[in-house]
Amino acid sequence: MYEPRNDVVTPHSSERYEIALNTSAGRVTTAVDVPTAFVPVTAIVPLMRRLGEEAHALEEARSLESGQARSCQKGCAACCRMLVPLSPPEAFTLREFAQSLPCDQQERIAARLAQAKSVLLAHELWNQLVELAESSQSPEDDMLEPINQAYYALRIPCPFLENDLCSIYHERPAACRELLVTSPAQQCQDMAKNPVAPIPVPVRIGSVLGLLWGELTSTPPRLIPLPIALDWAEQHKKMSHRSWQGTQLFDAALNTVWRFLSQTFQQSGNTPSANERTV
Ligand code: SF4
Repeated sequence: MYEPRNDVVTPHSSERYEIALNTSAGRVTTAVDVPTAFVPVTAIVPLMRRLGEEAHALEEARSLESGQARSCQKGCAACCRMLVPLSPPEAFTLREFAQSLPCDQQERIAARLAQAKSVLLAHELWNQLVELAESSQSPEDDMLEPINQAYYALRIPCPFLENDLCSIYHERPAACRELLVTSPAQQCQDMAKNPVAPIPVPVRIGSVLGLLWGELTSTPPRLIPLPIALDWAEQHKKMSHRSWQGTQLFDAALNTVWRFLSQTFQQSGNTPSANERTV
């Protein structure tokens, strides 16, 4: 556990980390610049998403080699009607980003969020989403599944969707980045009835960031449903002002990734080779 501070210092310098991660899809090697100053947890969200995307790209390449090309294309937004979970660091990042948008775009997002809320309230799902985000226990799959199904049945377009395009594409949550399929796109029109073939995800960055936040704040790992993420981040914004030394934060995040990968290897019965981090 690292000692948090309540003041955030603008990072002036960084250290370059060479990372080697052994995933089920192969070895990811990359370099990232990590701030050395005290930073909020949001500072490492882009770094972690990049790691996740590089690992996922290996799985996609493997899938392509076996003749299974990705069928997801720009303008296909069928999966943007599913319930997207965010880790707390991502919810804070999304709030900051949403507040930086032009006023008219903020107003459009607010209108769509209000519309989604009224549908969810009418179907008695809104309070369940709030309870999920505030729960003092980690969500179990058997509790999440009926909520996911009920939400998907309503086919509520994501409030960030505009003309079937993601209006926050470069800031979209890790869960959105991780859903890629090789099955025909039309099968995604009704994923409750049609089988879809997702490209495996070597490391779920949303889960990693959720675990990391739980460790940093001594709270249970939690997932924030996207329709309430901005509200949740606003209500907990004091926590988002806490800061940690960037390099220690990144070390803690990498440890969480390595634990996540070890569990994946254990579940598959394989032995992981060593992961490395050098400065
Ligand atoms: S954030 Fe973007 S990619 Fe994710 S569900 Fe919403 S519109 Fe789709």
